[in-house]
Amino acid sequence: MTFSTSPAAAGMRTAYAADLATLPAGTPVTICGWVNRVRQHGEHLVFVDVRDHTGIVQCVLGKRDDLRPEYVVQISGEVFPRPEGTENPQIPTGSVEVRDAAVTILSEAEPIPFSLDDRIEVEEATRLRHRYLDLRRERMQRNLRLRAKINSAIRAAMEEQGFVEVETPLLWTPTPEGAREFYVPSRTQPGSFYSLPQSPQIAKQLLMVAGFDRYYQIARCLRDEDLRSDRQFEFTQLDMEASFIGQEDVHRFISNAMEKVVAAVFGGRKVEIGKITWREAMGSYGSDKPDRRFGHPLIDVTGVLAKTAVRALSAPHVAALVDPDPSSLSRARLDQLVERARALGAKGLLWIKVTGEGDGYSISSPVAKLLEPAEVEQLLKQTGAGDGDVILLVADEWERAVTTLGQIRLERGRHLADREELDLLWVVDFPLFEGLDEQGKPISAHHPFTMPNEEDLDLLETDPLSVRSQSYDLVLNGWELGSGSIRIHRADIQRRVFSALGIDEETADSRFGFLLDAFRYGAPPHGGFAFGIDRLAALLAGETNIREIIAYPKTQSGVDLMTRAPKRLDAATLAPLGITVQPARQG
Ligand code: ASP
Repeated sequence: MTFSTSPAAAGMRTAYAADLATLPAGTPVTICGWVNRVRQHGEHLVFVDVRDHTGIVQCVLGKRDDLRPEYVVQISGEVFPRPEGTENPQIPTGSVEVRDAAVTILSEAEPIPFSLDDRIEVEEATRLRHRYLDLRRERMQRNLRLRAKINSAIRAAMEEQGFVEVETPLLWTPTPEGAREFYVPSRTQPGSFYSLPQSPQIAKQLLMVAGFDRYYQIARCLRDEDLRSDRQFEFTQLDMEASFIGQEDVHRFISNAMEKVVAAVFGGRKVEIGKITWREAMGSYGSDKPDRRFGHPLIDVTGVLAKTAVRALSAPHVAALVDPDPSSLSRARLDQLVERARALGAKGLLWIKVTGEGDGYSISSPVAKLLEPAEVEQLLKQTGAGDGDVILLVADEWERAVTTLGQIRLERGRHLADREELDLLWVVDFPLFEGLDEQGKPISAHHPFTMPNEEDLDLLETDPLSVRSQSYDLVLNGWELGSGSIRIHRADIQRRVFSALGIDEETADSRFGFLLDAFRYGAPPHGGFAFGIDRLAALLAGETNIREIIAYPKTQSGVDLMTRAPKRLDAATLAPLGITVQPARQG
């Protein structure tokens, strides 16, 4: 008789390991999994720990000496509470065992190259080479399953809000989003190439022209960029677009999705997403992706030092930071901070150490003698610094001063952040362009389909760098989770933005003619957003490296150690593609 104990556990078994503790003593069960450990107890008793993805269960059998770790087995027996005193409270299945177990070996295993015990550090290259073994570990099972939960929460949230999932092509045409693209040669048109999408940006905008109203996709995106702990060639994002909406609506759609994700991962935890303008974020944190969790914002003290005798402090902007961890600031450490500020591009950094409170305070600083008492008092007042504090000052152009001190703030305080906290933040009102390239042409801060702030349209040709955009980023604990914008839906404005970017009419037509054409046939106002699921999953799983939440990631040098991709192709394979490979250049 088969005794179905778990409806999910069909096929060759009746239950998963995690089900066993809920069953009445004596229930017959069949479980399947991998041998985790074998212990001989005297001559006639063997304990076999069997692992499936839900847990590990102890099985007790008579004499048997042919079982080895990682053998795949099917075990049938009866479930019983473990004898008093032998329970293992460390694992959820530790209160029960399967007795009188009969084992069928389904597959043998050679000794595996590393331990699957999560407590044992294994070199990453070894793990990646045998990823299928690494993924057997509890941590990796947990991480990938958490990721699946996130995807399913996102799907539910988007569908509840009326979004329809549409798959867009992987073989596509270039999208200008600032990253280098991967190209795929065409066999039917040798010499021509598809681009793998940096994102479905243009495809989704065209879906709005097509009247889909609300689109979403859990989309794979590909960018040929240097890899880091938070970046892979390919990544996954929630991509969405909606018509007849404004910024606030996009924020609401995404907030709702985020709320569902957090609820799925942590239960009822509330999500609140703050909002800050780009200018405020830069001014207070020196970053467009501020980590606010440890406080200590930058303070603008330019006014206090307007007439200072300290030459190093007379600059268009003076940013101050009350050091988050002053007791660790030795004199040598302070000197290093000055060097660090220089390495970050500022002229330097000045520090002021405060001792005592009220009238009894005194300061020490390389410029103590040059500072007026009134200036010091104002500095203390504005920064709130008191006994034991150290004020750090960087004086420079506004952006350089705040970004330098913002970086130092992070390096000085990040370790104090509460790791449990989820600080979600909208950063809004980005500039449309983020500076000039070598030819003096503006560079898109987001991408060239971003709608300028309508009040600033006239500045597009005359003062492009001061044009604000209708774009927004979502930041979680100092990581940029995603970005989006209200889009240009008029061909004339799109042409003006292309032209400001130095994309002439001919180039625009050859690259994006299809988009500009589409705008001629009735494009609704629209906007959207995309956030990276790899980063989100890593943060929610408490991992600092996104490779830990990706099944088959590539190494920093872009190699898949398991399959050994990328691989060379022989001339016969390349010939129909019209490709010949030059011999690699020496040196
Ligand atoms: N396409 C953008 C990106 O991938 C997001 C967006 O604007 O919707 O970052």
